[in-house]
Order: sequence, then structure tokens, then C-alpha cells
Amino acid sequence: MITVSLKRFKGVSVSPYDSLNLSYSVGDDAVSVTENRRRVKEQLGIRTLLSARQVHGDSCYITRKLVSADLEVNGYDALMTDQSDLGLMIQQADCQGVTLYDPDCPAIAAIHSGWQGSVQNIIGKTTEKMIALYNSSPGRIRAHISPSLGPCCAEFVNHSLEFPPAFLDFQVKKNYFDFWQISRMQLLQAGLRDEHIKAAELCTSCSPDYFSYRRACREGDGCTGRCATVIALLS
Ligand SMILES: [Zn+2]
Repeated sequence: MITVSLKRFKGVSVSPYDSLNLSYSVGDDAVSVTENRRRVKEQLGIRTLLSARQVHGDSCYITRKLVSADLEVNGYDALMTDQSDLGLMIQQADCQGVTLYDPDCPAIAAIHSGWQGSVQNIIGKTTEKMIALYNSSPGRIRAHISPSLGPCCAEFVNHSLEFPPAFLDFQVKKNYFDFWQISRMQLLQAGLRDEHIKAAELCTSCSPDYFSYRRACREGDGCTGRCATVIALLS
């Protein structure tokens, strides 16, 4: 099994997508994105990528038959498979990419969880799907939380309208929230063991190594690329 959160370098896209932009949906040249995705597959040693046109919902796409060519499904924010050598790719610019791995089945999932995903608890819902579909025991599932918007930068001035009251426990100062800890809480509630949850705890808005929507808004019109978190079972 391999799970990685890719930095934004070593691609071919030009500004403001420089350079490893992996999204076809942000205005970048499609030929560049295809080459960037090819480089990711080469680097990770996988043949095929499954991704989604993400919509900040809570739907999970589960592979029912062999995925033998790159596939981008529409309208999902989580991906799940037990197929080997298939990379599940989440595209992100501040949102969290959360990966799940059941070593016994084996099976994997990749989850896109921005604040709307956190509110809908897509992490808990996807974990429950993995448990039901693959007879996974939550006590053996491993989780990884990617670099994403940190508590230093996660300001939400409308949180009283947008967030459930339980999120107030994770308010670190007025209007700032720790979504890494919210995700950990959702994984623990789904039955995972604390020692099986790893978080990068790197803020994408602070680090120039990653695309960041918040940073792009601070510096201009918000137009930027998308990094990716990928998980794959290797044969
Ligand atoms: Zn920050």
C-alpha cells in the first residue's frame, strides 16, 4: 500500500497552475494536466488513476468491476476499492484528503473533506461503508490526514450558521477552527484507534509547497491548481 500527498512541483503547467496541477476543472490546459497525471502514475508505480469531479457532498464511488483505464467520475467526494494498482486520487487546494486502509481485506478509500465534508461527516460515512462492504474491523483500519488548511488559517466568520454546535469544541480562537482534530474525532467516532490515525499537520495556506485556495485569494483572484492525495494497493 502506498499513500502520498503530492507537492505542487515537478509538473508542466504554467502560472497560476505551476506546476503539478492535477485538476481538469480549474481552467488549466488539459494536455498539461494529462502529462502531470502521467508523471504521478510513473512516480507511484501505478497504471491507473480513479478520481472524481468533487462536489463537496458525501457520496462514495465504489468500484464494482475492474477499472482498466483512467476514470474521473462525476459528483463524488469519496472513492473506495479493493483493486490493486489502482490509485484513488483526491484533488485539493486546502481541503483535506483522508485515506483509509484496511490491511486485512485489503481495501482502501480516499476522501475529500473540506469544511462542508466535515459538516456532513463524509469521513464517518465512508468508514461505515468500508466496514459494511469489506467486513472491515474499524480497529484495524489505518487513516492518514493530508496537508490542508490548518487551525492557523481556518477562519470561518459564519460558523454559527454553517457548523454544528459540536464543532465549537475545536474553535482555537475566535472564528478559527482545527479541522485536523475534527477529522480525528470523526474517525474515532467511527471506531478507529487513535494510534492508527496519522495527520501531516501541515497548513497548505502557510506552505508554498502546496496549492492553496485561501492563499490564492489573498494574493489575487483565487485561481490556482489542485494538489492530490493518492492511495493505492500495490500488487
Ligand atoms: Zn496556516
